[in-house]
Amino acid sequence: MPISQQDLDFDNAHLWHPYTNLKQPTPVFGVESADGVYLNLSNGQQVVDGMSSWWSAIHGYNHPKLNQAMALQLKSMSHVMFGGLTHQPAIDLSKKLVAMTAEVLDCVFLADSGSVAVEVALKMALQYWHSLGRSKKGKFLTIKNGYHGDTFGAMSVCDPENGMHSMFTSVLPQHFFVSAPTCTNDDAWKDSDIAEFKQCIEQNHQEIAAVILEPIVQGAGGMRFYCPEYLRQIRALCNQYEVLLILDEIATGFGRTGTMFAYQHADIVPDVLCLGKALTGGYLSLAATLCTGEIASSISDFEGGNLMHGPTFMGNPMACAVANASLELLQSNDWENQVKKIENQLIKELLPLKDKASVFDVRVKGAIGVVELQKPVDMFVVQPRLVELGVWIRPFGKLLYIMPPYVIEKNELTRLTEAMRVVAGEF
Ligand code: PMP
Repeated sequence: MPISQQDLDFDNAHLWHPYTNLKQPTPVFGVESADGVYLNLSNGQQVVDGMSSWWSAIHGYNHPKLNQAMALQLKSMSHVMFGGLTHQPAIDLSKKLVAMTAEVLDCVFLADSGSVAVEVALKMALQYWHSLGRSKKGKFLTIKNGYHGDTFGAMSVCDPENGMHSMFTSVLPQHFFVSAPTCTNDDAWKDSDIAEFKQCIEQNHQEIAAVILEPIVQGAGGMRFYCPEYLRQIRALCNQYEVLLILDEIATGFGRTGTMFAYQHADIVPDVLCLGKALTGGYLSLAATLCTGEIASSISDFEGGNLMHGPTFMGNPMACAVANASLELLQSNDWENQVKKIENQLIKELLPLKDKASVFDVRVKGAIGVVELQKPVDMFVVQPRLVELGVWIRPFGKLLYIMPPYVIEKNELTRLTEAMRVVAGEF
């Protein structure tokens, strides 16, 4: 049954969508079902999904293997508390995560969303230094244009000015920010590219618990890409000044940038790693924070020794079961080849848009394509236009970008890039 107009009106007036205004709601489209790379809308249209539901549905929708994993898990239990109880799906998932990430990352906290995984990472860093008697290390250092989530700890390390959270500045803990990296290619690297960061860590390391950033691709803070050398330099400076390195791979993890994790582009290893989004193939909300055995051991050796976090839905069995199935699918699907094919096609079909007067920049990294326009788009006009063109793309600000499911076929991807071309020409 399609959603009635009455219900759509109720939605408009009473139901908040992400970052929306109930008095001036931007267009919302009813969706009836989703299958493969297609969303079936209430208006009868079938659109190609360019967003993977914000980086998560990497295998497409209604996948038989993921459906099967959910159905099987439902037969034994959908949820039990994780306090004092454990279960096979959580154990299996943790084993997989430990095995597939850097060797030093040994211990896992299963959180219920990306923002919570970031909160846990920040706590791990603070508790680690506390356990070593160095509680003065109570601040974080990060780069501008970052995005780490909408909870208060996570907001405090998001870009302080780019709009999303600026109204909360007065109640947020104050941390250290330096300019976002601008170097996009190791061959063009200059020592001055790290100068501001270096100066900040040199001057303030006694107060800094950890550096936190999104490696290689900054997502919601601007869809900016930067070169691996910047990460290598940061890793070296963190070692030199006894500062932990937290990498937020909630968006970039599980193959999206062309390597399983984006830190592999730089051949470095973080002390703490946040994962989420694609972890369950987009089926359920689940995230994970991994840390080194050394951090876990130091926190645990301190009096009390508890890591102070424990959400109600921690380690949800359904989410763990579908995450296990999604990771198995990722390996068996030859993700590297899928992402490479998407990257090659995006380069071919999007880079020529650079010549358009309305376009400021075009960039491609792995299965991510970004067209940055000269002016912000009007969502009231552009969103319906994209749907009319048969695609689901959700621009923000000046950014028209896609990160499609890895299973997308060539002609389906062309439908997305073609819609981007048309829209870039019209606005
Ligand atoms: N970190 C990054 C890099 C993200 O992209 C996001 C989500 N956009 C988050 C953290 C927060 O994740 P969630 O929305 O699941 O809380």
